[in-house]
Amino acid sequence: MGNSRLRCFGCAREFPHGLYAGGCPACGEALEVVYENLEWLENPAASGIWRFGSLLPVGEEGWRVSLGEGNTPLTRLPAISRAANLPNLYFKNETCNPTWSFKDRFHAVCFSAARMLGYSKAVTSTTGNHGVSAAAYAAASGLKCVVFCHPETPHLQRRMIALYGALPVVLERRQAMLEAVVRDHGYWPATTMAPLPVANAYGVEGYKTIAFEIWQQLGRVPDHVVCPIAAGDVLYGPWKGFQELRQMGAIDRMPKMHGAQAAGCNPYVESFRAGSDRVAVEQHPSSVALSIRDETGGRPALRAIYDSGGTAMDAGEEEIIAALRMLAAAGLLVEPASATALACILKAGFQPEETVVCLLTGSGAKWPETIQSIHDEPILENPTLEELKPL
Ligand SMILES: *Cc1c(COP(=O)(O)O)cnc(C)c1O
Ligand SMILES: [Zn+2]
Repeated sequence: MGNSRLRCFGCAREFPHGLYAGGCPACGEALEVVYENLEWLENPAASGIWRFGSLLPVGEEGWRVSLGEGNTPLTRLPAISRAANLPNLYFKNETCNPTWSFKDRFHAVCFSAARMLGYSKAVTSTTGNHGVSAAAYAAASGLKCVVFCHPETPHLQRRMIALYGALPVVLERRQAMLEAVVRDHGYWPATTMAPLPVANAYGVEGYKTIAFEIWQQLGRVPDHVVCPIAAGDVLYGPWKGFQELRQMGAIDRMPKMHGAQAAGCNPYVESFRAGSDRVAVEQHPSSVALSIRDETGGRPALRAIYDSGGTAMDAGEEEIIAALRMLAAAGLLVEPASATALACILKAGFQPEETVVCLLTGSGAKWPETIQSIHDEPILENPTLEELKPL
């Protein structure tokens, strides 16, 4: 912490650690954590993301919260490599995190920062994964937590949030309520770095560890990283991680960062095609991929796409479901948001010699209604021996 502070993404003014929920006090842009004297240092005695604790903004070990997040597998699936004609296609399997999504890396850092800054209660807004993860890390760090849930948040996930000891609240106008309770009741917002109006710079730091792990597991920098994006932290965080690796002299090239969205809700794609530096606002968001069905996202991810030479791509509903089935048939059951990344890869036109990493951000197991709607064929019950023969 002593060697880090906050810097405005827009005007580059710097500020001491603290909560600036409305963004930069000077210009209103998002803030991010910056470090002095970055030095690659891995602590093999620590576990998961905290192996990289010296590159995270929580100085004292006593503040750190962990449920064993991070250190997820980087896996090749030969059947999909063949179908995609990409021998070097790798899947970063974030479903192996404690609450079955990559959001656990975020909340480990976010709740550690809440403790560092003396907060005792937190609030967030979610379509599902974010809230489940926040509730688990609130439990692990001894904070009270309120979770504003999208009306389509699966019932299972609402129950999970409650079991972790947080309060799930189903609410249409989540952003407005979030702003009000942070301002009036002193809650710590366990929210993304952008977009505003209720931003938090700390959680996204946890996503840097995705880049550190990919680099270590591959032994090199991939050519492409494809991330299913909503607020965009899932793309900006790893990009920042690769950038810091380069600043430290550990790597000398950067991957192209690609954002994947559903065609029914694709504000980044719209902005990217227009060459705009503002993220568009989707008027009629619709897709089975609820976890990435946000009307808009943050500018940091859009800038990372441009700076890296990447793209924003989208896939239709049928392509998303086909990719989900393909991954399940290869042995990994992910949710539609994660399948969107593969759906985009399948038509991206990457070259066979290129190394591509696909982020599988969340598990299908937390979306029972979705799984049911995708696979509704009758299930054989008490069959005769004869009926089993053709299988
Ligand atoms: C939250 C989420 C995303 C998008 O992450 P952002 O940081 O909001 O862009 C993608 N996939 C899954 C499974 C998620 O839960
Ligand atoms: Zn500013």
